[in-house]
Amino acid sequence: MRRIVLLQKRIRKLNTRPLKKGRYILYWMQAAQRTEYNHALEYSIRKANDLKLPIVAVFGLCDNYPEANLRHYKFMLECLNQAITALEKQGIKFVIKQQSPEAAAIELSENASAVIVDAGHTRIQKKWRALAAKNIDCSFEEVETNLIVPVVEASGKEEYSAATFRPKIQARLNEYLVKMQNTKPQFDSLNLKFDGLDISSIDDVLSELNIDKTVRPVSVFKGGTSEAKKLLKNFIAEKLDHYADLRNDPSKDLTSNLSPYLHFGQISPLYIALKVSESKSPGKDAFLEELIVRRELSFNYVFYNNNYDKFSGLPRWAIHTLNVHTADTRPYLYSLKMLEKAQTHDPYWNAAQNQMLITGKMHGYMRMYWGKKILEWTKTPRQAFKVALYLNNKYELDGRDPNGFAGVAWCFGKHDRPWSSRQIFGNIRYMNADGLNRKFDADKYVEKISQLENQAQL
Ligand code: FAD
Repeated sequence: MRRIVLLQKRIRKLNTRPLKKGRYILYWMQAAQRTEYNHALEYSIRKANDLKLPIVAVFGLCDNYPEANLRHYKFMLECLNQAITALEKQGIKFVIKQQSPEAAAIELSENASAVIVDAGHTRIQKKWRALAAKNIDCSFEEVETNLIVPVVEASGKEEYSAATFRPKIQARLNEYLVKMQNTKPQFDSLNLKFDGLDISSIDDVLSELNIDKTVRPVSVFKGGTSEAKKLLKNFIAEKLDHYADLRNDPSKDLTSNLSPYLHFGQISPLYIALKVSESKSPGKDAFLEELIVRRELSFNYVFYNNNYDKFSGLPRWAIHTLNVHTADTRPYLYSLKMLEKAQTHDPYWNAAQNQMLITGKMHGYMRMYWGKKILEWTKTPRQAFKVALYLNNKYELDGRDPNGFAGVAWCFGKHDRPWSSRQIFGNIRYMNADGLNRKFDADKYVEKISQLENQAQL
């Protein structure tokens, strides 16, 4: 009973239309690209069983997802291929349409009794859902499944910092950190016929898509829920014990590397949190702080601040102090091109940029240093903000995520407090290379990345 109430709290009606007589329940997969620990799919199955209908799943593969390129599409398609097999095993037809996501959902909604989508809070995700809500002529609901605590349940307003958000979200964890039930679909949709895109050959699909192909796919991470679960298992067994002390040392690889999988919804944060909570490792609390407090704070920012991806979305004190120091002389000035090609005077910054270019994932500690230096070496803070977000979203596999918007904004003062004033930064927290060397062996990190560069050139 408690679990049914909990599922209800994740659901939001996106239109006021009733159920209609249809041939199936349409589950529109968009932000949660997985079949396990997926509340939107679970809700679709329960609804379909109640109405004695099968479920059809749909995914709209568009060419023009903002800032996405070959690297991101390959990773996503690897997972969607796994999802086809997993859904078919449950008797659910999964139709991939080469269309804008909302257009695919609207088309297949014509014969549906109801449509259910996973929740997404970035601008484009909200736009797709709003367009679909206008055009779908039956009940249309969204289900929050990429967060442990639904964003509106965690807090009713934009939070100032982790310190103000932490007690609020922690107070809800007893309620939300619970295992999910899995209901089996009672009716099969595999015999229903639809025109869809065959994605069994990922290379063929990629060659047909009209996307930016200049950013090459990465070999370090392969998309898919099974890959994510393997990484999680290995993380708990081999790395979690060291996480509290050594996660900020980029010369080591002691973080989970789950962010690309979380970004595409290929693994559930609830599943990760439950698995980590079961462990007796001393690293558990530090990890859950990042996964729950920090990650869900980013969603709070994107949900409540319409300018989450703009300089104007920063706190007033941060904008003021940066404006006051806009005319300060910069010790170095680099163009976007030089930054993009990792051609600065700073070997640590270049190593971080190269790690992102080659692997699609810069170490978390270096991301802070990287963003701070872009602020220091770019003509104006406004331009620096744009450059940092552009590079982050273009090259990080986990880019274009609430965490990326909040992470870049953090470098410019978001979720932080004013510090003592200095040139260029004003009251924004400063970082320098000495600080890196006090924390870890930064030259060892440079060495590690130059080995990667050598391998990449082979
Ligand atoms: P782990 O240390 O294993 O942490 C587990 C999970 O907790 C992560 O996958 C992530 O979901 C969450 N998490 C960890 N650190 C943070 C944090 N500081 N803020 C919010 N959530 C966190 N994260 C992205 O997912 N996408 C981005 O595009 C992104 N861009 C960033 C840009 C800058 C300038 C900064 C400072 C941070 C950015 N982050 C981003 C946040 C963070 O650096 C990454 O989430 C983390 O490095 C991912 O590696 P991991 O999965 O191995 O992390």
